[in-house]
Amino acid sequence: MSEPVDLVILGGGSGGYAAALRYAELGKSVVMVERDKVGGTCLHRGCIPTKALLHSAEVVDTIKESQTFGVVGSFDKVDMPGVNSYKDKVVQGLYKGLSGLVKSRKIEVVEGTGKLVSPTAVQVGDRTIEAKHVLLATGSVARSIPGLEIDHERVITSDDALEMDTIPTSVIVLGAGAIGCEFASVWRSFGAEVTIVEALPHLVPLEEENSSKLLERAFRKKGIKSELGKRFESATQSAEGVQVTLEGGKQLEAELLLVAIGRGPVSQNLGYEEQGVELERGFVKVDAYCQTAVPTISAVGDLIPTLQLAHVGFAEGIMVAERLAGLPVTPVDYDGVPRVTYSHPEVASVGITAKQAEERGMQIHSVTYDLAGNGRARILGTSGAVTVHAQVDGPVVGIHMVGERVGDLISEAQLITNWEALPGEVAQLIHPHPTMSEAVGEAHLALAGKPLHSHA
Ligand SMILES: Cc1cc2nc3c(=O)[nH]c(=O)nc-3n(C[C@H](O)[C@H](O)[C@H](O)COP(=O)(O)OP(=O)(O)OC[C@H]3O[C@@H](n4cnc5c(N)ncnc54)[C@H](O)[C@@H]3O)c2cc1C
Repeated sequence: MSEPVDLVILGGGSGGYAAALRYAELGKSVVMVERDKVGGTCLHRGCIPTKALLHSAEVVDTIKESQTFGVVGSFDKVDMPGVNSYKDKVVQGLYKGLSGLVKSRKIEVVEGTGKLVSPTAVQVGDRTIEAKHVLLATGSVARSIPGLEIDHERVITSDDALEMDTIPTSVIVLGAGAIGCEFASVWRSFGAEVTIVEALPHLVPLEEENSSKLLERAFRKKGIKSELGKRFESATQSAEGVQVTLEGGKQLEAELLLVAIGRGPVSQNLGYEEQGVELERGFVKVDAYCQTAVPTISAVGDLIPTLQLAHVGFAEGIMVAERLAGLPVTPVDYDGVPRVTYSHPEVASVGITAKQAEERGMQIHSVTYDLAGNGRARILGTSGAVTVHAQVDGPVVGIHMVGERVGDLISEAQLITNWEALPGEVAQLIHPHPTMSEAVGEAHLALAGKPLHSHA
């Protein structure tokens, strides 16, 4: 039998490949097993292709609204095959780069479906890969509601939506999280009639309530309809489309139903429980250092019950690699993870909401700075706001933003919250004029008791 490698990784998505790259960088031998393509959901079916679609949608909006800016142009049509070839080119370019990087770090990629067969081994076909450590990173797939069958024709997931080469005339989007809102935004910009159905009372329901309300207002203005606080009851498919019945009897009809109610872990029939790995609702249970109940086995990414975001997977993967290499590590601070919904307008946040502060018994004071007072926002023709929460006589604990391009402001917001800056300290920082970033500065000036372009 050959010598065990230092680490075998099951799954080559954001979490798995980040761990592979870092562990290899630390001089360790790594084998990564992937049944599809290295890069996983994020690169091939998630973050990257959806943001390419959103960029095409922004181009459509810009052309349609050009007269607002004194430019006379006319919108002809969206050429979906053209949009897809642009999107695929972006993905292919990144895939090529990532594959080259993996190769250059001498990480062996084994193609095929792997299974955990011992606390230190993964089997792929007739090959058993022995390792000192195992990392589970098999990610997630779209979930459905019991009784709602996804036929991939009328009732589709985000994977199907990314493959479409036509624009639907009408769509019902089930679920108002980031994925649902992003597709609603794209399709509306492309000309479809869109209705979002959400059981909770707001769009992006995990965000600050004010951010949800601002997005709801912007979506209404865009012509996106919403059925909020309404439970889905049933759906029937026909050759023409799909009919959805909501709790209370209301019926909606559309050409397509996108199911975007969340993603469930890929953990079944992979030998996890047989080897002593504990699961909870299908997610792999880990400690703060991403170690499972079995000392040689770690798990990261969408497979564990933390925020399902690519950059969370990266952070967890890097932490596991460093821990296994014996370096000192700090657990991921999940409150400090920046979150962005890339719809038009965007929603971005970091830190905690007012509701979470209340639940934790934390006394906060807050300021909401309306983008109406921001020069750059007026120039771009966007509306929205920046809300900042700080502990009374303490640091900033949450920043929540809505507006075009606010996703680009989240890194400063992250430095502020994660470095536990005081509002007065941020108020001292000069923000360039006229930029959207001034809105962050203005909110902190107001919070420090010296508002400039706003009222106290
Ligand atoms: C539509 C959409 C948009 C998104 N947009 C964003 C965004 O803008 N920003 C963001 O941060 N996140 C976004 N996400 C989430 C992001 O894609 C995930 O959080 C991230 O991909 C999780 O990484 P992972 O490594 O845990 O899992 P995955 O990326 O799912 O990778 C798991 C890999 O394991 C492989 N695999 C599974 N089982 C086996 C097996 N038995 N053997 C071998 N290989 C196996 C799979 O083929 C896959 O490649 C989006 C997701 C979706 C669906």
